[in-house]
Amino acid sequence: MHTANLQVLSPLRIESIAYGGADTIIGTGRDRAQRAGERLAARLDELTAVALVGVAGALAPQLVPGDLIIASELRSTESVASRTLPGAAMLSAEFMRSRFAVHTGPVVTSPKYVPASERETLAASGALAVDMESSWVMDYLPNNPLAVVRSISDTTTRGPVFGGLRALGSLSAARGPLERWARACGEHEIILASPRSFCAGVERAIETVEGAISKFGAPVYVRRQIVHNLHVVRNLERQGAIFVEEIDEVPDGAVVVLAAHGVSPEVRRQATERGSLNVIDATCPLVAKVHTEARRYAGQDHNIVLIGHPEHEEVEGTFGEAPERIRIVTSVSDVARLDFERDQPIAFLTQTTLAIDETAEIVSSLRARYPHIAAPITNDICYATQNRQDAVRSIAHRCDLLVVVGSSNSSNTARLVEVAQREGCRVELIEDATQLELGWLAAVRSIGVTAGASAPDFLVHDVVGAISSLGPVHLSEEIVVQETVRFPLPTKVR
Ligand code: SF4
Repeated sequence: MHTANLQVLSPLRIESIAYGGADTIIGTGRDRAQRAGERLAARLDELTAVALVGVAGALAPQLVPGDLIIASELRSTESVASRTLPGAAMLSAEFMRSRFAVHTGPVVTSPKYVPASERETLAASGALAVDMESSWVMDYLPNNPLAVVRSISDTTTRGPVFGGLRALGSLSAARGPLERWARACGEHEIILASPRSFCAGVERAIETVEGAISKFGAPVYVRRQIVHNLHVVRNLERQGAIFVEEIDEVPDGAVVVLAAHGVSPEVRRQATERGSLNVIDATCPLVAKVHTEARRYAGQDHNIVLIGHPEHEEVEGTFGEAPERIRIVTSVSDVARLDFERDQPIAFLTQTTLAIDETAEIVSSLRARYPHIAAPITNDICYATQNRQDAVRSIAHRCDLLVVVGSSNSSNTARLVEVAQREGCRVELIEDATQLELGWLAAVRSIGVTAGASAPDFLVHDVVGAISSLGPVHLSEEIVVQETVRFPLPTKVR
């Protein structure tokens, strides 16, 4: 891997000394910063990681002298154009790991010192701090990995004389995180696994809640997380959804949506017996199919082995169809402990989001113990789970690191992690790009990215953006199959 050199810039020598030795003193103000930018552009290659370290004035009222700001965006008072720095969240997290609190947000550059009395307008734009160099110098380095770290010297109520020493005292904290940031910078190859992100069942569940809000008005109550993803849940909350744990938390007369993982007959009974509730069922049709099979086998006096994770809501729901007849197994060793008689009719079912290879081992041991065991008519592990695992398998051998985007309580996401591990691939699970760690990316060239069926694809694009902020990226996509599955919405929201 071609890694980056680090070039640290400071406006003033005193800021360089406080940091621990910058490579270039660029001077203060627009003219000096622009001349320095021109000279740097002529001598630095695009792989050089460039960090600007110095003091700045606070715009946000909560900031105090010595607070560190990581710029997520560079703006100037002279232009409407701005430049985002998508790696800011990774750098901020690196400071946090060094136990140094930082603030992350836009920094605005002005050609002249902005006195405290004139900062209100700039603060209203959401910028955290104002300086006199960052945008001017960085404009000359459009393709380099960039970082801007500013320490607050003066605030809206206190001038620079009071805060200058505190600001300089904080700058030395930037050295370690910036060196680790530079080690992660360099050329990377990103391979996107496809299919990834939303499946048809998740899309249907989200559209069901959105459709209910638009048809019946907010609030719409949802029992449990509609799908296992925090971003999806927060987005629906903003639209007017209220998430509850149990039906008895839903007020009379309200609309309530049952989540994609399905519910037991007992929960369905609680919802419908209330009479006053408008119940909309967003259970994925492929989960509903497993419930139907459970009822059918139970009706034929079969004992049922349910392969799955007992703490998962889908398994709770399926188990509730015939609790007296169902035993849940999670591993081959669980099969050995089953107490069903060998001469009784028996069938097995599976959770929809299991690992295919691991489930195959459990099914083999079931068939060895109960040779007459009946199997579901079609595989219960759903097409989306299968496709996402196949896609991971197809790229794992080419990746130094695989990043799986999704929530830790998402079953199909957790299985993607396990599949990659079984392929011998180093793998990290993240909720979103803010959890990417610079340490994972140092000395890594080829990075695979996928996302669980409940994770929105924009999270994958954020990850690509964050990695791209570290240097040139070669982006490709490995498509193992094109998905065309769509499920119709529940009739109440059509
Ligand atoms: S992962 Fe499969 S079973 Fe679960 S919601 Fe998606 S399509 Fe349905």
